Amino acid sequence: MRPFDFQRASGAAEAMDPGLRVIAGGTNLLDLMKHEVETPARLIDVNHVGLDEVRREGEGLRIGALVRNSDLAAHEAVRRDWPLLSRAILAGASGQIRNRATTGGNLMQRTRCPYFYDIHARCNKREPGQGCDAIGGFTRSHAILGASEACIATYPGDMAVALTALDAVVEVEGQGGAREIPAAGFHRLPGDDPSRDNDLRPGEFITGVRLPAPLGGRQVYRKVRDRRSYAFALVSVALAVTMEGGRMTRVRLAFGGVAHKPWRVPEAEALLEGHAPHAALFDRAADAVLEGARGQGDNDFKIELLRRTLVATLTDATGDAA
Ligand SMILES: Cc1cc2nc3c(=O)[nH]c(=O)nc-3n(C[C@H](O)[C@H](O)[C@H](O)COP(=O)(O)OP(=O)(O)OC[C@H]3O[C@@H](n4cnc5c(N)ncnc54)[C@H](O)[C@@H]3O)c2cc1C
Ligand code: SF4
Repeated sequence: MRPFDFQRASGAAEAMDPGLRVIAGGTNLLDLMKHEVETPARLIDVNHVGLDEVRREGEGLRIGALVRNSDLAAHEAVRRDWPLLSRAILAGASGQIRNRATTGGNLMQRTRCPYFYDIHARCNKREPGQGCDAIGGFTRSHAILGASEACIATYPGDMAVALTALDAVVEVEGQGGAREIPAAGFHRLPGDDPSRDNDLRPGEFITGVRLPAPLGGRQVYRKVRDRRSYAFALVSVALAVTMEGGRMTRVRLAFGGVAHKPWRVPEAEALLEGHAPHAALFDRAADAVLEGARGQGDNDFKIELLRRTLVATLTDATGDAA
C-alpha cells in the first residue's frame, strides 16, 4: 500500500473537495488500496459527520449516507414497508462487512472484474486507453447487457438493485450545490469511458437516499451465486408485484450481476401489468428483458439463467405455477 495523508471530517462539507478521497466503512476502498488498484494521496474519513439516521419523510423514508448496511436491513420500517431493500442487503457480503459498510459506500463500490484488481492486466476502467484483458479472457462474472468494446464489467452490488426497483433517489451535494439522481440513473453504462462508474461529479458527496411511499404487494430479492453467502450475484432479480383481482396491477423489476449498472426494463413491467400471471407471459417479459443480450463465452449461461430466475421469481411471487 502506498503512503497517504489522512484526515477526519467533522461535517459533510469538508468531504466535498475534489482533491480528497472519502473513506466510509473502508470495506472496498482499503482492499483497492492494498492491491494498489487505487492510490489516493489524501483520504478523508467521513464516519463522524452524522448522516447516520433513517427517518420517515412524509410517506417515504430518508436514509443517511452513513447508515450501516446491517442497521438499514434491520430497521423496523424498512423490514415492514420496503422488505425488498432489507432482503437485498442481507443477500450481500457477510454480517461483519454489513456491520461496517455504509449506504453511500455500497452504492459506490467498484466492479469485481478480476482484471480490474490485477494491476498487471490491461484495464480501461483502471487506466483509460490501456485496453481490456477481460475481452477474450475469463468472463464468467461479466456483463450480458449494455457492455461496450471498452469494458464488459458488471456493477456487483445488491442494495442498488433493490433501490432501482423501488424508484429511490440518491441525494448528492458538492461545491456547486445539492442535486438528486434517480437510483435507476445513478450508475452508468461503460461506453467508451468505463473509468466512470456513475453519475457523481468530482467533489460530489452522497448525503443520503430517499425512498418514495411503500409499493406494498409481494417483494422478493432472488440472488443466484456460486455460494450461499459471501459471493456476488451471477444474476439477481428484485421484484415488487401488487395483485388485485387475480391480475398484476403494479410490477417493478430490476436485475443485478448482468450489466455495468442495475438493469431495469420498463417495457417488461408494462407487459406484465394488468394481466393475470401466466407462464407464457412471464416468458415474454423475459424476452423483453433479454433483448440485445450477448454472452462473452464463459458467461453465456447467464442469459438462460436470467430468464429462468425471472420466471421462477414471478411464478413464486404471484402464486401461479401455470
Ligand atoms: C468479501 C466481500 C464480499 C462482498 N460481497 C458483497 C455482496 O455480495 N453484495 C454487495 O452488494 N456487496 C458486497 N461486498 C461489497 C460491500 O458491500 C462494499 O464493500 C461496501 O458496501 C462498501 O461500503 P463502505 O462504506 O465500506 O465503502 P468504502 O470502502 O469506505 O468506500 C467505497 C467507495 O465509496 C466512496 N464513498 C463512500 N461513501 C461515500 C459517500 N457518502 N459519497 C461519495 N462517495 C463515497 C469511497 O470514496 C470509495 O470510493 C462485499 C465486500 C467484500 C469485501
Ligand atoms: S471488463 Fe472493464 S473492468 Fe474488466 S478489465 Fe475490462 S475494462 Fe477493466
